[in-house]
Formats: sequence, structure tokens, C-alpha cells
Amino acid sequence: MTDGPAQTIKEKLDIVEFLRGYLPMTPAGKNLKARCPFHNEKTPSFMISPERQTWHCFGCGLGGDIFAFLMKYENMEFGEALKVLAEKSGVELKRADPREYKVFGLLYELQDAAKDFWKEQLKTAKIAKDYLDERGLTPETIEEFEIGFAPNDQDSLAMYLINKGYDPADITRAGLIGRTERGLQYDRFRGRIMFPIHNHLGKVVGFTGRILPQLDTGELGKYVNSPETPIFNKSKLLYGFWKSKSGVRESGKAYLVEGQMDFLMSYQVGIKNAVATSGTALTPDHILALRKIAEELLVSFDNDDAGFAAGERAIDLAEAGGMQVRIVSLEGVKDPAEAAQKDPKLLGEAIAKAEPAFKVFFRRYLPWGKVDPLNHAELKNLRILLNKIKSISSPVERDYWLKDLATYAKMSESTLKEEMEKVQVVQTPERFREEEKIIPERKYSRGERISKDLLGAAYSRGDYSILNDVEDLLDPSSKKLLKTLKSGAKKAADPEEDAFLNLVILEAADVSDGEIADMKSALKDGSSKTKRLELTERVKEAEAKGDEEALKKAIEELRSLPQG
Ligand SMILES: [Zn+2]
Repeated sequence: MTDGPAQTIKEKLDIVEFLRGYLPMTPAGKNLKARCPFHNEKTPSFMISPERQTWHCFGCGLGGDIFAFLMKYENMEFGEALKVLAEKSGVELKRADPREYKVFGLLYELQDAAKDFWKEQLKTAKIAKDYLDERGLTPETIEEFEIGFAPNDQDSLAMYLINKGYDPADITRAGLIGRTERGLQYDRFRGRIMFPIHNHLGKVVGFTGRILPQLDTGELGKYVNSPETPIFNKSKLLYGFWKSKSGVRESGKAYLVEGQMDFLMSYQVGIKNAVATSGTALTPDHILALRKIAEELLVSFDNDDAGFAAGERAIDLAEAGGMQVRIVSLEGVKDPAEAAQKDPKLLGEAIAKAEPAFKVFFRRYLPWGKVDPLNHAELKNLRILLNKIKSISSPVERDYWLKDLATYAKMSESTLKEEMEKVQVVQTPERFREEEKIIPERKYSRGERISKDLLGAAYSRGDYSILNDVEDLLDPSSKKLLKTLKSGAKKAADPEEDAFLNLVILEAADVSDGEIADMKSALKDGSSKTKRLELTERVKEAEAKGDEEALKKAIEELRSLPQG
């Protein structure tokens, strides 16, 4: 995986610079540390080594090079990561395999061509421009998000693309045209405002088309989406995320809205951390993409029953996925798009006043606060709340909300806890568990761990002489590693040694003289304890054999050990 162009790319791109675009990081000795994007954590255990150009998370055990990071982070295959990094580093790749081009390259190209065509059509379609204007979108937003218009013709896009030399079979595969039973081809999108859906790197991968109200016969859906293709997967993509990623990262919060218009209007009035699902309900994959860079999800939904039910599902999922959720209440308007259009300041104000989801749930399910244990409906609602609390992934938060519920419902916490034990918790989605599987690391003994930390301290100081008095006490692999480090090498030929070297370097920390002295005495202590055990065994053995000589020697050695 690291031969050829990949190796050249790695030499050209600095992992620290590259990862800086993804993670806020702080220096830690010769390394940098960050909060791990791949598991849920509050204190950073994700280390990046500029010297080795590697990263490793001591929380979840994941690690690797720049490719491993991008593939994991963006959910990419190696081939795709190679393309992205080649472009970034200016390394030229040999022409893509024609078969691969058919699968991916051509699909991207066709989406792009369709987008350009529809953008051009919008310029002369007064009816469509008027509609967008009426909904409050500015020309700048329309341009920035590459919105277009699909004319209400049988096959104007198909003809445009065929004239450009594309094969109708490929255009069909790209989800842009369909065929009637009699074999007549037609454009999938007709008479619709076209919202391109960009993947998280900003490439168009599909579309959502909204019918113009004047053309809506009610026969086809108000919204039509591109079908799933090898490059378009609705359950993973978030609309607008390519633009709002940095806003989400900076604030640590993502404002989840329902559709394109909600997103665009929110973004337009300055809510730069908005995201929307594209024609599907929120999925675990969406949550995984968001929680890499945000702790909090802001959700707004209508205050009617249907709106509440839809929002509630998303909230339960986000809480189970380890995100905290706040609810943005919009009074007197239908949705975020309407709020933004009514008054540009309204949405920002509502977001600032967002409440923790549980506060809203408590009021919703137990409007009278107190629970009457003989009232079946109230008891059932109480159990729904307990179930939600039980599903929170963080024990600290779980505890917090249980206490809060006890106060709100005027019940004792222990009673609630007992009741909570009994409720059946909603299953954590398989996808989360898959992602959270902790990769078992080799278990290091206490002595090995201390040796490793001492090696790290010496490495960090660039002074190996501090280990002179304990060199003999190091375990064999640490001894070997010390030699490698002293030689100035940052890599070891033996894979096991190299893995250990990687850990030492990534975990290397600047430690005080006092700490070094403590570690050394712990090492000495540990080794004398081991020695004592060994000698006690030898004494027993000699006694059993009646070997006076050996017994005398063992006892002498035992006495000479430092006491402690
Ligand atoms: Zn991790």
C-alpha cells in the first residue's frame, strides 16, 4: 500500500499540516495531540508524530499514516484517497484504469455536466428565478450552492449529454435519465429546481429536484432525488456539509435541519454550522460524520405531534451515538427557512436559547411534573423517559439526567434508578457498536510500560544518558529499542519493534526530573520484587532437594536485596 505514488505522496505531504485541516491540535513535546475523531472522548488521546508521519489513538487503538486517516475519516476506499492526496500533493497518477473510470470517474463527470447544464438553464427561466426569489434565496446563495433549473421537457438534458458524446447507458447509470416501457428515454428531473448534492469534499454526486408549484400536478413527488449510485449514498451524505464543515468544527455544534431550503436559508442568514439530511431520515452514519467534529447537535422541529415524533427519533439516535442534543424552538413559524426569511436575526436568537433535549422531553411526557403511580398513562410516559436516559451513552450524563428527572417528577432518585433497571433499553444501532469496537492492543507488563515511558522521556529530551543507571533493568525489547533510538533511527526493520517504537515516540512526553526519578525507582522496585519472588522459589526448591549449598546462596542473595 505504501509503494509507488503513495510513497511519493507521503514524502510530499506533511501529516501535521494535512490533519490540521481536520482537527484542532495542541503541541505535546515533540508530538501533537488532539481529540480523537474516531471515538467519543473528552480528553485528547490522539497523537500525531511529525517525525514518523504517523498517528495513533491511545483510546481506541486506531492508527496509521495519512492514507489510513483519510480513508477512515472520509469513509473512502484506498483508490479514492490516493486520488485526493495525489491532487493535493501535485503527484501525477498514471491514467486511471478504464474500468475504474467507468465506475467512478464517469459518474462524477456526468453529475458535473448535468449541474452545469441546469445552472445555465436557470439563467433564462424567469418562472424558476421568481420562485427562488420568493422563497428568499439571494443570487449569491444560488451561485454558491450551484442551484439550477431542469426545464419541463421530455429529454433536454439527455440530448445535451448525448451531443457531448456520452453513452445513454452511462447517463442512465448516473441516474439522470430513465426509459419508458416503450424504450423512450426521458429526463428524470423535469420542471424542477435542481439542488446539487455535494459530497463532503465538494464534488457533485447527485441531486434533489423540487417541482415548481405551477407545474405540480400532484402525480409525481414534490421532491425527487437521484437514485443511489456508486458515488451517491444518501444515508451517509449530509447536504451542505462540504460548506459548513469548518463552521461545525469551530463551534463544536451542528444545527440539523430537514431539507435543502432550510439549510440554504439558515446558511444565508449566517448559521454556518447547519447541515441537512438529503431526502432521508437521520442515520447512524450521519451521526458518525458529525460527532467526529462536534459534541452537540442542535435540532429544531415543529411543535405539532408529527414534527415532534420525527425530531424525537433523530434525538434518540444522536444521544445513543454520544452527542448532546439541544432543541431549538421556533415559535410562530413553520420551519427554519420561514424563520430566516421572516427575520434574519430570528434563527440565531432561537439557537442561542436552545434547551437540552431532556428538558423538553420532561415537559412533553410529564406536563404536570408529578407522577401519579396509579395513573397508567403517566407511568408509561415515565418509563419512556427512563428508557431515554438509560440509552445515553455517557454514564455521567445519564446520572445527571436521572437526578434532574427526580427533581422534576418529585420522586426519589433511588426509586427511579430501580425502575430504570427494569425498562428495556432501545438497542444501540449496530453501526455504532461496530465503530466503537476497541481494537485489542498487546498487553504490556508494568515493567514494560515504565520502560516505555522512560524511553519516551529520554527521546523527548534528546538525552539517553538519563537511562544509564537503569539500562540493565529494562526489559529485553526496551533494551533493543534503546539501541535503535540512540542510533537516531525513527523506524525499525522488525515490524514488532517498529510498532513498539511507534508507541514510544507517539506517547513520548516531557516529564520532570522528579517524575523520571519516580519511574526509575518504580522500575528498580519492580525488578527487586520479581527478584524476591524468584529467590523465594529457589529457596523452596533447594529445601525440597536438600541442597545445602544452593539454599545458603539463595538466602544470602535474598538478604542482600533492598528492603521495601
Ligand atoms: Zn480514538
